[in-house]
Amino acid sequence: MSLHVPTILFLTVLVALLTGMLLIFSWAQNRLHRSLAWWGVANLLGGAGAALLAARGSIPDFLSIDLANALLFCGYGAMLSAARRFIGRPADARLLFGGAALWLIACQLPAFHASAAARVCFISFGIAAYSWTIAYVLIRGQTERLASRIPAAIWVCLHGASSLVRIPICLVALPLKEANLISHPLIGFFAVEAIVQLIAMSFLQIGMEKERDELHQKLAAQTDELTGAANRRSVLERADALLADCRARHVSAAVLLLDLDHFKSINDTFGHDVGDGVLRATAQTFSEVLRKGDLFGRVGGEEFACCLPNTSPLEAIAVAERLRAAISKLCLMSPGGAICVTASVGVASTNRDGYDFAELMKAADAALYEAKARGRDRVVNEVSPPAYALASERLAS
Ligand code: GH3
Ligand code: MG
Ligand code: MG
Repeated sequence: MSLHVPTILFLTVLVALLTGMLLIFSWAQNRLHRSLAWWGVANLLGGAGAALLAARGSIPDFLSIDLANALLFCGYGAMLSAARRFIGRPADARLLFGGAALWLIACQLPAFHASAAARVCFISFGIAAYSWTIAYVLIRGQTERLASRIPAAIWVCLHGASSLVRIPICLVALPLKEANLISHPLIGFFAVEAIVQLIAMSFLQIGMEKERDELHQKLAAQTDELTGAANRRSVLERADALLADCRARHVSAAVLLLDLDHFKSINDTFGHDVGDGVLRATAQTFSEVLRKGDLFGRVGGEEFACCLPNTSPLEAIAVAERLRAAISKLCLMSPGGAICVTASVGVASTNRDGYDFAELMKAADAALYEAKARGRDRVVNEVSPPAYALASERLAS
């Protein structure tokens, strides 16, 4: 296959500038996606560098060698800044300009500047170093599962490796005597690799930002804004799956329903904001007392539900008692004085009530109702038929 190198170089510049502008356009639509702006700037710098490289012979060497490669290194620095921004780290001027600065310093050495082989080695090692650092940052900074993250890291790793492979190829096959170096077919192949890299990385970077947005939206839809705990919808969805798993494994599970006692009077006495603080502290207590695999969430104003897999009825009562005791020890200070809070808990178990979450909630609500009727600040697990009928009515309305 023969490649028309000037056309491919022209295409490389075009693709770099176009993808650069598209990335900046994507950032302009959502300014929180700062990594896209950095990645866009990287492509623009790379495109400018490639344009100068392509003009080799028609413009002074200072522009087509020194400046062109300095711009390329700044482009890689901007890509690294994009990766750092993506994981929430700030851009670092040393990383952004370091490669370009070292390159320009090396160019001041006449022996280095005169040797195309030395320049090829410097540039290839520089690109590999930047690429592998970008891959490292993407993987190390992983805080959430994003489908595009691994392909992006692998891709950029391969790009680094391909830049090292160039060294022996260039040293053996390229006429390193300058003159028509830039129109050699091998340069065409390298430019094709650059085009593929530009397009793939631009898509993957946009993909990662989009996936992260979707993940955050999904999380927000499942989370109670005030307490950060799961919300009612999320509890319903996840409890069904937990219970189905317990049924399949023939193990017991339990549902607890906890309601703060006389919470309205806390609001009335100390104000709604203080009431909110009590709700947050209660949610925090749940996360401290429960095991990792247990599910809990805020299912009503001052009502929390838990679904405890692999839990016998006796263990469920013990957990409920621990929760009740921990909440009764909560003592929040406010300008209006100390606030002490208690909770009542209703317990239901799959051993008695089956594996249907709605039925378990009904039974737990009936038990909770009984706990309130018996004077609050207690755990109840047995349910009288009238309390159960009342709970059914309440949950149906
Ligand atoms: P009981 O012991 O019978 O449960 O009495 P209670 O006062 O806790 O129950 P009631 O149902 O009468 O009052 C619940 C209160 O919870 C009323 C409502 O204003 C308050 N509430 C509901 N959601 C929120 C919230 O998000 N923040 C605050 N601060 N209060 C809330
Ligand atoms: Mg209450
Ligand atoms: Mg209530």
